[in-house]
Amino acid sequence: MKKNKPKKMEIDCYQCEDQSKCCRFGAWIDLEEAKKILSDPKRTEFNLVLIPEAMSILESERALHTLKEYGISVNNIIVNQMVPENPSCKFCSERRSHQQERLKEIQQKFNGVKIKKLEAFKEEVNGVDALKKVAGILYIKS
Ligand SMILES: [Zn+2]
Repeated sequence: MKKNKPKKMEIDCYQCEDQSKCCRFGAWIDLEEAKKILSDPKRTEFNLVLIPEAMSILESERALHTLKEYGISVNNIIVNQMVPENPSCKFCSERRSHQQERLKEIQQKFNGVKIKKLEAFKEEVNGVDALKKVAGILYIKS
């Protein structure tokens, strides 16, 4: 990583007055570099992953807002852990119905961002095979 002198930072250190002698000087350079990478759409794709529940939606709205302030745009909203259709199970059907309501809310709140749905898996998503399965659903089917 290049060790250029950082430009005027948007963050301030509460301990050090002189930026060049700041206790977090190294971290600031890394942060600037990270910002460059994260705000370059050629190098970074940003996906927000949420679950269709109120708290998660709020957190994602906040994250989207913060990213926007840094000039980082979000490519996709991934709605994770959607309950699959299962008419024979009352629990699943009710849960799914609640999730569908939250999904509508997500579509309204994140209007303009592509929304992808991911159904809940029986097992924990762990390992290359499971990740390939998820990638197939997110990037090939939809
Ligand atoms: Zn069920």
